[in-house]
Amino acid sequence: VTILAIESSCDETAAAVVRNGREVLSNVISSQIDLHKLYGGVVPEIASRKHIEKINQVIEEALKEAGKTLDDIDAIGVTYGPGLVGALLVGVAAAKAIAWARKIPLVGVHHIEGHISANYIEHPDLEPPFLCLVASGGHTHLVKVEDYGKYEILGRTRDDAAGEAYDKVARAIGLGYPGGPKIDRIAKEGNPDAVKFPKAKVDGAEYDFSFSGLKSAVLNYINGCKMKGESFDPADLAASFQKAVVEVLVGNSMKAAEELGISKFAIAGGVASNSALRAAMIEACEKRKMKFYRPSPILCTDNAAMIGAAAYYEYISGARAGLDLNAVPNLKLGER
Ligand code: ATP
Ligand code: MG
Ligand code: FE
Repeated sequence: VTILAIESSCDETAAAVVRNGREVLSNVISSQIDLHKLYGGVVPEIASRKHIEKINQVIEEALKEAGKTLDDIDAIGVTYGPGLVGALLVGVAAAKAIAWARKIPLVGVHHIEGHISANYIEHPDLEPPFLCLVASGGHTHLVKVEDYGKYEILGRTRDDAAGEAYDKVARAIGLGYPGGPKIDRIAKEGNPDAVKFPKAKVDGAEYDFSFSGLKSAVLNYINGCKMKGESFDPADLAASFQKAVVEVLVGNSMKAAEELGISKFAIAGGVASNSALRAAMIEACEKRKMKFYRPSPILCTDNAAMIGAAAYYEYISGARAGLDLNAVPNLKLGER
């Protein structure tokens, strides 16, 4: 089964051709980062306009790179939520147009299911059940993947997502957008024990996360330094913040794995490309004799190959979307 996948939920216009959910024939990503950087974050109106400009070209490139034409495509997979409504609609409209014109099946994909499914691409041996930590710009979910397309959310953030905290702290330090990769980079030069930040615990929900307290602590620290006329070391601050984030992500993850007795653990989403998180996860999983899975960094952030992987499993389970498929900005994982 050869699937053409389309992703436009945020600020990446992406298309990919994926065979049988695991073999990526092409993966084209047109990022708008340089555009949104001027505003310090994603501007929804600009994002949808840019998607419209790019979508056809990106789809053509994906087919060309794969050495395929639309005649070779068995189904179209497209992200229909969650995300920015005006951005999602561009991908959904393009997917519907192709499905209608070529009379081929259409499959709607949940963006976070896509992030999780990125793990299938480079790990041919990975099959459910397993646990997955999804840490991205808008989500921080601890998910039990019970089967393909079947998810149980064990824990979630009560406030900011992990990636959101990275982006906000980076802005406060003066590193610009998107902050995650920049904090990752300068943290390597800093001392993670320079500043002690609180580890956020959520009462009553042992697998839930909270990052807004940590974010405020960092902002207070910066303001405190400014008021006292002292300078601070951005690298030390980045490393200390990152340490606090990674400790909570790994801590909750390992607690869940132990209590549920699951020995396969995967990470997904943009923050899964973070070098400190990857290193800490490898160590924690090794210590517990658990198998650890993670996508390459390029498959962690938004792309269409992951949508093609998720679409394949939806497709073989019989899921089909009609030409009335609409964008659902707050679509929940496991819902249709
Ligand atoms: P969602 O997937 O929840 O809808 P999104 O699609 O905007 O949100 P992703 O593209 O998965 O999010 O990831 C982007 C986020 O990942 C940003 O917040 C970015 O700062 C963060 N990120 C990317 N690389 C790194 C890194 N190396 N370290 C930490 N964070 C990172
Ligand atoms: Mg993005
Ligand atoms: Fe994403």
